[in-house]
Order: sequence, then structure tokens, then C-alpha cells
Amino acid sequence: MNFTTLNATCYYFDAVVNIGYVRHEDKGMLIDAGIDDSVMRKVLKELRANELPITHLFITHAHADHYGGAQFLQKRHDITTIAPKFEAAILQNPTLEPLYLFQGNDPLQELHNKFLEGKPIQVNQEIEAGEHNIDGFSFITHLLPGHSYHQLAMEINGILFAGDSYFSEEQLDKHKIPYITDADLTLESLHKLKEITCDGAVPGHGVFEQDFTQTVEKNIECHETLLNWLENFISEAEEGISHETVVSEMCEHFAVKNSMLSSWLLYRTAVTAYLIGLIKREKIEHYMERNRWKFKKVQSE
Ligand SMILES: [Zn+2]
Repeated sequence: MNFTTLNATCYYFDAVVNIGYVRHEDKGMLIDAGIDDSVMRKVLKELRANELPITHLFITHAHADHYGGAQFLQKRHDITTIAPKFEAAILQNPTLEPLYLFQGNDPLQELHNKFLEGKPIQVNQEIEAGEHNIDGFSFITHLLPGHSYHQLAMEINGILFAGDSYFSEEQLDKHKIPYITDADLTLESLHKLKEITCDGAVPGHGVFEQDFTQTVEKNIECHETLLNWLENFISEAEEGISHETVVSEMCEHFAVKNSMLSSWLLYRTAVTAYLIGLIKREKIEHYMERNRWKFKKVQSE
């Protein structure tokens, strides 16, 4: 984990999940908190070594890899925690994540793991998109849903801490079908990102880039390719195709191997996000048949 200086007040810990840090006089704010106690222990050690204060925490969205280390921080320091509304509900009740991934059924024991469920944290201030001034930290939050329902990226002192609103190219290649909840909203957020003028951006996974538009373009390309593949695949099935089959075939085609229920649940949500995208674009329609959720190409008149 490297602690990288971005400008006079902004830094970030580059790690599997990046963590931002912003200094304001005798105060310091972390942006996201890593996946667990051991990550946070390293972060606190580094801040101590550099004599940097820690008083505030902002969480971009309620995924365990972004807030799993937050409870450890809250137990050791007097922290003001800020989070987007809605995401805050999950941060305070983390079982909601395995619960929603499991379609509302009581999650099986194996789903209560640190990748799907962090330790609960306190949220002192729930915020929306817009301009904020909190205890001297002056920043803008941008609503960028599509990967998480109410994800907010933070623009502060020229740097955009983007959360998971876009991924590095390596992440796109690795996951093959990126985790999203709605392809249409994801693309809308990516186009919105290109309009933000700042000195550079730190994504949740990947490296800081001054000009991140190329990487955002790669994300757009990736989602459009997946949408095209899925549209063609569904249009070949004249009798329609069930949700279960679409999930299985799309994962097979893109060489995604799920050996565990928890990872399959994430991919089921991702594949469904592309189905939702095609429904919104009116490329496919959905219906029920013999208690199966099915999809077929919209017939042009
Ligand atoms: Zn995420």
C-alpha cells in the first residue's frame, strides 16, 4: 500500500481498494475505508507516521470492500462519518447486502462473509448530491448510480474521488462482466463523469489519472459490447429465453466461472443489469411463462 500525494491537501492510499485522504487545517478526512481491520490498521499507521490528523470519514457507497475497515476506525478515533442517503441505511445494517443479493430470502450462513457484509458503522450525516461545507471541508458530491443505488463521488480541492463509478481497464478485463445494478444508469453516470472538469480522478480500483476520460471511454465500450452481445443472443432465441439460462449462458460465453453461491449472486445481479438496460432501451421485452421469467426481442411492426 503506497501513500501517494496528489496535491497540497489530497492524497490516496493505493491498494486493492483505494482510500482517499484530504487534509484541512487540523482535520483529516478519509474517503472509503478498505475491506477490513488490517487495511485500516495500515492506514492509521501511515497517517501517524506522517503526523496527519484523522477526524472525518466519507463512504462513497455501501459495498463491504469500501467500508469494511470503518468500524475499526470508529472504535479508535472520534470520527464524523458522512455517507450518501440510502447507502447509509446499508452501512448501519450491513446484512441488507447479502439479503438483497439473495432476493430477499434470509441469507444462508455462507453469505454472511466479509466480501458481502462489513461490520456495521455509525453514520453521523447523510448527504445528497450537491455542494457541501462540513466542518470546513468544502466539496461537491456527484450522484453516479448504476454500480450502487446511491453512490456519490466526491470532488474536493480539484480531485475527484470516484468510488466505483468507473473501473480501471485491468478490472474490466479481470471481471469480464463488471458488477453493476443497472446498465442504463451505469452508462448515464459514465457520460456524466466525462463532463466533470477537475485535475484528476482516483477510482475505487485502479490508479490516479489526470485525464481519466480514456478510461471512462473504455468502460462505456465494455458495457456497450456486453449489451450488444446480449441483445444478439436473445434475438436468436425465437421462443424466448429464461432468466436462469441467460445468466448461465452469458457467464459461460465470457468465461466467468462461479464455484461459490456468493460470487454467482453478484454475477446474476450484473447480468440482470444488462437485461434491465435492454428493457429500458426497448430492445427486448420480458414476460412470465410457466413461472419462468423470460425475455425475447421486441418485434418491430
Ligand atoms: Zn463497489
